[in-house]
Amino acid sequence: MRLSQILISTLRDDPADAEIPSHKLLARAGFIVKIAAGVYTYSPLMWRVVKKFAQIVREELDREGANEVMLPIIQPAELWQSSGRWDRYVTDGIMFSLKDRKGTDMCLGPTHEEVMTTFVNAQVNSYKQMPVNCYQIQAKFRDEIRPRFGLMRGREFVMMDAYSFDADDAGLDAAYQKMRNAYCRTFERCGLDYTIVQADSGAIGGAGSEEFMVIADTGEDAILFCKGSGYAANVEKATSQLPEAPAGGEVREMSKHETPGVKTVAQLEDFFDGWVAGRMAKTVLYHAAWKEDEAIVAVMMRGDLEINEVKLANALDALTVRLATDEEIQKATGAETGFAGPVNLSEDVRLLADLSLEGRTNLLTGCNETGYHCLDVNLGRDCQQPEFHDLRLARAGEGCPVSGQPLEEARGIEVGHIFKLGTKYSSAMQATFMDQRGKPAPFVMGCYGIGVSRTPAAAVEQHFDDKGMVWPVPIAPFECVVAILDSKRSEQCELAEKLYGELEAAGVEVCLDDRKMSPGAKFKDHELMGLPLQVFVGRKAGDRQVELLVRKGMEKSDCAADEVVAKVLAALGR
Ligand code: ATP
Ligand code: MG
Repeated sequence: MRLSQILISTLRDDPADAEIPSHKLLARAGFIVKIAAGVYTYSPLMWRVVKKFAQIVREELDREGANEVMLPIIQPAELWQSSGRWDRYVTDGIMFSLKDRKGTDMCLGPTHEEVMTTFVNAQVNSYKQMPVNCYQIQAKFRDEIRPRFGLMRGREFVMMDAYSFDADDAGLDAAYQKMRNAYCRTFERCGLDYTIVQADSGAIGGAGSEEFMVIADTGEDAILFCKGSGYAANVEKATSQLPEAPAGGEVREMSKHETPGVKTVAQLEDFFDGWVAGRMAKTVLYHAAWKEDEAIVAVMMRGDLEINEVKLANALDALTVRLATDEEIQKATGAETGFAGPVNLSEDVRLLADLSLEGRTNLLTGCNETGYHCLDVNLGRDCQQPEFHDLRLARAGEGCPVSGQPLEEARGIEVGHIFKLGTKYSSAMQATFMDQRGKPAPFVMGCYGIGVSRTPAAAVEQHFDDKGMVWPVPIAPFECVVAILDSKRSEQCELAEKLYGELEAAGVEVCLDDRKMSPGAKFKDHELMGLPLQVFVGRKAGDRQVELLVRKGMEKSDCAADEVVAKVLAALGR
């Protein structure tokens, strides 16, 4: 392909809203053009990248027996009501919903469990027709709270979503493992450094899930991992060994103390001699919302530890949780912020506590009275017995739950997610098949997603330098470019055409840069666009000499024209 026929328009500066390298570089290279927040047009070169990545995904899924289909983007609310998800997605505000001309509620698909379940339910009647695994590669729509980082968090983006249907749990386990293997091969083929982590299942629900994370400093997710045991988890899900805290000792009488203006754990440590954070129970009030209900709940955590709001929402089975406002705290406890506690807490406020407090004696807590705290509080004796759950945020440095070694922290970009759904959707939607005994049974499902537009951006995040992008060969827009430095010189044009033809004949995905522009501008463009191998045909063309540049590391070497094909093939490992 000739670059003179491809729309390429590189910019001198980064766009003002670009914060991370992939966004800056993709925009500066003209690969993406913003239309609205989180909505982008892909240039011809960018679209080649996305298609090449999509093709790798396809090949690896097809190898595992998955079938490509195409589902509708626009979906009726009715389907989402049948699975019970409409309200949650509308409350979250994540879904683009609209009404058709008849006033029927519709949405633009943020994900496709309902549509795929309907499709497979109509096609599959018997256990004999399974396993079934169908996928599609298509635009998804999510009205993200903070669309940002270019293709990383778009409101319209390309996703591969796959759904497996099996007759039993063993079938699901096998389907899940196959998808996991296909994902590993996909990301390995793209030359990405990735980690598989345990994940929260989020709004999709289900039994277990893992995320594929591309490790990068700019990643939006925090990961905790242990090299020794191989344990790795998204911090939303992670657990750790409970850090030690001094024991409370034998049960004593509770006492109430005036603590004017003393509100935080640190202030309390200063105020009460010998009462370290680990002997306190802080009480944090949250506002929780369910489909048809909302409430203020009180959450107790050991003073030296933090609350994980994802675990809290899961424990409450709530749609959303957020910190209560000062007014809400005042209303629920009768005291100012900083004095909430289990003692004298209204029966109407549900009380939860982290497992770190279970069985602990003689705690320091608030008592819902401005300017007072209590010492030697014993849960269940001096106040209601809380419900205990794991609500704790695991932190780097704490012991790995498997090996006990200190956990390490890294940032990651979620490029893929695999879920065991079980029968959550099929039961709700009454999607059944005839099992071996001739009885109707709900499908046992899995679902699987890959960020098809996010992954190339993540690849740039791992592969760039101060000059521009450095595409990994498998997803580069072209593997090689032959650039004519002075198109007025016929010997340069002829030699470049010849090399271009030879490389193409040798099976190299090559383009010819025959654009009329200065050599300096051409060098700069190619540094920025980052094609892996670059052949510059310039002044020495008459001597049948060219310059070969390996973009990774910017290694330049002179090369005889008749060695170009062999050298390029060698550099591509062929
Ligand atoms: P995130 O936690 O990043 O919001 P998610 O867990 O909501 O993502 P999934 O529903 O698991 O996303 O979607 C499957 C995959 O689609 C993700 O692993 C990610 O690679 C990609 N993806 C999700 N949301 C976006 C988005 N807004 N822009 C681009 N890609 C996305
Ligand atoms: Mg996810």
